[in-house]
Amino acid sequence: MLIGSHVSISKGLLGAAEEAFSYGANTFMVYTGAPQNTVRKPLEQLKIEEGKKFMSEHSISDIVVHAPYIINLASFKKETYTLAKEFLEKELIRAAAFGSKYIVLHPGAYTEKDLDYGINRIADGLNEVLSKDIPDIYICLETMAGKGTEVGRSFEELQRIIEKVDKANHIGICFDTCHTHDSGYDIINDFDGVLKSFDEIIGLERLKVFHINGSLNKCGAHKDRHANIGADETNPKGADNIGFEAINRIVHHPKTQGRPFILETPWISKTENLYKQEIAMLRGEEK
Ligand code: FE
Ligand code: FE
Ligand code: ZN
Repeated sequence: MLIGSHVSISKGLLGAAEEAFSYGANTFMVYTGAPQNTVRKPLEQLKIEEGKKFMSEHSISDIVVHAPYIINLASFKKETYTLAKEFLEKELIRAAAFGSKYIVLHPGAYTEKDLDYGINRIADGLNEVLSKDIPDIYICLETMAGKGTEVGRSFEELQRIIEKVDKANHIGICFDTCHTHDSGYDIINDFDGVLKSFDEIIGLERLKVFHINGSLNKCGAHKDRHANIGADETNPKGADNIGFEAINRIVHHPKTQGRPFILETPWISKTENLYKQEIAMLRGEEK
């Protein structure tokens, strides 16, 4: 099983890989810099070769890059939209330099416009980016919780985007357990049914990455607040409404295997996270 967490890129790809290894992970996810802005260190400063060497020596693979939140391909504002396309193109190159095959992207939010506008705008943006000479990589549209005007709250919305993309062979999906639960899919009692519907609407072959998170809210709440896996009321960040059993079933489900499972669960404090315990728990090493 490929399992890891979000890790920091502040010490380069080598630091990211070392951090992942310290959690007992065999994969990981990074942002290429701060998720909220476009300031990026040049690739030469990111210890890429050392990072790749460490990964191969420690059997870490299938790493994932997450595009920053400021990319909004659904925006009607010219500057926002142009920046989104230009930045995404650069991110694809950075991700490929890291040796990553998957870049996770929040499809976008249509703000003052409507869903149809958002879907068309995202597809146009993706078409423009993919028309360039881009590396061999999947842009993985993330399943969203459906807060505000986010596009991608259902498998149907994601498929409507994919259908409009010319080079759809470059499009994958990142399935976030917190988001699908929050958007109303019953991944607790009927994960098989959810997967079946995913397969019918999008196709399981597009499913490339999982984000494995608990949720502070009830199914259908459209909130997007992550919880630690199986956390109870004693957890300072709050109790998980999805629960260990449901997440455990997902990561061990025969139809989900071979994809990286990435934790984006909350840090308990500035200095403490539960990634190591969560990974061990889901591997069945301790409980
Ligand atoms: Fe995300
Ligand atoms: Fe996520
Ligand atoms: Zn989220």
